[in-house]
Amino acid sequence: MKTIFITAGHHNRDSGAIGNGYQENVLTKELRDLITSKLREIACLKIWNDNDDDTLSQVIAKINKVATADDFLLEIHFDSDERISASGTTALVASGAREKSKDFAGQLAGDVAAIVGITNRGVKSETESNRGRLGILHTKASSCLLEVAFISNHSDMEKYQQYKEPLALAIATTIRDTMLKY
Ligand SMILES: [Zn+2]
Repeated sequence: MKTIFITAGHHNRDSGAIGNGYQENVLTKELRDLITSKLREIACLKIWNDNDDDTLSQVIAKINKVATADDFLLEIHFDSDERISASGTTALVASGAREKSKDFAGQLAGDVAAIVGITNRGVKSETESNRGRLGILHTKASSCLLEVAFISNHSDMEKYQQYKEPLALAIATTIRDTMLKY
């Protein structure tokens, strides 16, 4: 049975970005749990979540032990920029990612743009991100690192808070449909 890995960016030892009264690791854990519970309601899939006390390298090591090329992975983040006007959602994939990873990422960015009502910045390669190579995108699973919205943008966060429940359901539906398709 295929596994969907749904992980929260940053975990307990690293707050991630901070903005508009929000802390990234609190948002990522909340959305991971919302998506996971919606997915349990609509599909019978093997779901793997990260442990909040693990570091990123521990999470990657655990996934590497069990992931196969049939599996999918979604890691959740929130973007941040010094320019408070920066807005929208971005789906990052590995450099040289498989077509099914790009398809998955495109669907996820489309879900956020449509439901939260923010700009779709599209699917981008990790080489276009400010960190260059993202280890979480290099397990055997077909993977997407979703930068849901800008924590530094007041309007993005207001809309996200308003629509996070239907967004979690839409993402759960995309995960189910993607895993049925491939
Ligand atoms: Zn992040």
